[in-house]
Amino acid sequence: MRSSLTIEFIRACALEGQYEISLHADQERLEDGLAIKDVEEALCSAEVLEDEVEGRAEPKHLKSEAMAGKYSDCFFCGGEVVETAINREIWWKGKLHLIQEVPAGVCKQCGEKVILPEVAGEIDRILQGRTAPEEVLQVPAYRYPRSKAV
Ligand SMILES: [Zn+2]
Repeated sequence: MRSSLTIEFIRACALEGQYEISLHADQERLEDGLAIKDVEEALCSAEVLEDEVEGRAEPKHLKSEAMAGKYSDCFFCGGEVVETAINREIWWKGKLHLIQEVPAGVCKQCGEKVILPEVAGEIDRILQGRTAPEEVLQVPAYRYPRSKAV
């Protein structure tokens, strides 16, 4: 395990696909129309503008060669992370998509979710239209009443 979180270490992790992406971050990048490859490329060519990591604990959330499990322990609480199939609702290019039974790492302690880069890549392939949907669902849609706005 490296003793500090350097840009070289981050680049190597991105290059080798040795990282986990939080479900929240993955949702954000999809809503921005970014493929996981774009994120990895950006990481590989990134420069450090400001170092805010000083004083933080060891980067235990980054995978190391010593890691036995599929997922590292939870970045937030240190709890054990186990694989669970989750359903994801993703807004992609203005349309809502449902992807069921996505493998995700879920913290047993705090519920934080992460996904692996290969899973993010497969989601990209599905959304980019290389897989026909199993079915097309109808979703009830509402608008919050203006009169009740706070
Ligand atoms: Zn946790």
